[in-house]
Amino acid sequence: MQEIDLKVKPHFVDIYKDGHPLISKESLEEYTKVTQEGIILNLYDTKNRFIAKGYHGLQNKGFGWILSYKKEESIDVTFFKKKIKQAIVHRKKYIEDKETTAYRLFNGEGDGIGGLTIDFFDGFYLLTWYSIGIYKQKTTILQALKESVTYKGIYQKKRFDSKGKYLDDSDDFVTGERAPKTITIQENGVHFAIYLDNGAMVGVFLDQKEVRKTIRDHYAKGKTLLNTFSYTGAFSVYGALGGATKTTSIDLAKRSLAKTKEQFELNSIDLDKQEIIVEDVFNYFKYAVRKKLLFDIVILDPPSFARSKKHTFSASKDYVNLLKEAIQITAKNGIIVASTNAANFSMMTFRDFIFRAFKELKSNYKVEESFSLPSDFKVHKKFPEGNYLKVVFIRKLK
Ligand code: SAH
Repeated sequence: MQEIDLKVKPHFVDIYKDGHPLISKESLEEYTKVTQEGIILNLYDTKNRFIAKGYHGLQNKGFGWILSYKKEESIDVTFFKKKIKQAIVHRKKYIEDKETTAYRLFNGEGDGIGGLTIDFFDGFYLLTWYSIGIYKQKTTILQALKESVTYKGIYQKKRFDSKGKYLDDSDDFVTGERAPKTITIQENGVHFAIYLDNGAMVGVFLDQKEVRKTIRDHYAKGKTLLNTFSYTGAFSVYGALGGATKTTSIDLAKRSLAKTKEQFELNSIDLDKQEIIVEDVFNYFKYAVRKKLLFDIVILDPPSFARSKKHTFSASKDYVNLLKEAIQITAKNGIIVASTNAANFSMMTFRDFIFRAFKELKSNYKVEESFSLPSDFKVHKKFPEGNYLKVVFIRKLK
C-alpha cells in the first residue's frame, strides 16, 4: 500500500498524541496531497517527530483512522491478525455462551481499525466496509481473518456512501461455504432467522441484545406490549417469551409481516396472541388515541432518520413528539422503552427530550434504567461518540 508523510498542524498534535483515533482533514497540512483512499498516512509534528500512522478513507465521520503508534509497524496480515486476536479475547463471554451464537466480533475503531466491523452468525462472518479506503485492504484483512478463526463462510456489505448507505451488490458472498437461505442463530436462548444476502439489514440488530433480555426477564410478564418500528419484531419475540399477554408490532415495511411471523414461529410462540400491523406508526398512534388504547409497555426504536409518504422523522428534531404520542397510550405505571441509535446527540440530550415530553403533557415519570452498547460493540476510550446507542426505560407515573 502506498504511503505518504504528512504534517499535523501544531494545535492538533496533542489530540492525536492523546489517542484520538479519527483523522480530520482540518488537522493536516497539505491534506490535498492525499488523492487516493487507502493510502497510509504517516503523521508527524512540526519538528518532524513521528506521531502515528493511519489510512485515508472517506466516511461522514472524517478523513481516515489511526491504525498504529509505532513507526516501524507495517499494516499487513500480521498487523490485522493481532487486532483480530485481541478482539476475540474481548468477546470471550459471548464465544463461550452456549445460548448465544451471534455477536459482533470486531467493532471498528473500538477494536483499533475504524471503518470495519465483523459480525458472527453461527459460523458465518459478515464484514462491513465503511469506506473505499478500508476496502482496499480487503485481501489482507480476509487473509488475517481466515488465519484467525474457523469459519463456514464469509460475507460482506459495502457501505461506502458518505452517509453509510448500503451499496447493493448482486452478491454479498465472499468465500467459503454459501450460507443456507436462512441461518438460525441464538441470542440468550432466543432464535432468530438471519439472511446474509438480502440487502442492508440481516434480520436482527445485535446491539439491542441486553435491552431485549431485560424486557423478557424483568418487564414482560403479564403485560401488553406495543413494539413500534418493529422491523422483524425482535422486541416482540422477547416480550412474548417473557410472558407478555399480547404483543402488537408495527412497521411500515411490507416485509415486516412475514419476517415477524417467521421469528415468532422459530420460537414456537402462539401467533394468535400476537398482532402484526403494517402501517405508519404515526397513523397508528392517532388510531390508538382515538380508540383510547393503553399498553403496559411501549417500545420506541425509530431509525435516526426516515421518510414515509406523509412524515419525515428525524430523531434529533422529532423524538420529543414521538414520546408525547407514546405517553398518551401508555398505561399508568406502564413502561416506555425509548431507544435511539442517533449518533448526533448525547444521552444528556436524550434525557432532556424525555423530560420535555413529559413536562409538556403535564405527566410524570421515573427512569428505571438505561443502556448503551453491549460489550461486544466495543467503544474506543477516546472516541465516546462511537457509543451511539441510548436506551431508557421510563415508568409513567401519572
Ligand atoms: N426496532 C427494530 C429495528 C428498527 S429498524 C428491531 O429491534 O429490530 C427501523 C424500522 O423502522 C424499519 O423496519 C422501518 O421500516 C421502520 N419505519 C421507518 N419509518 C416508519 C414509520 N413511519 N412507521 C413505521 N415504521 C417505520
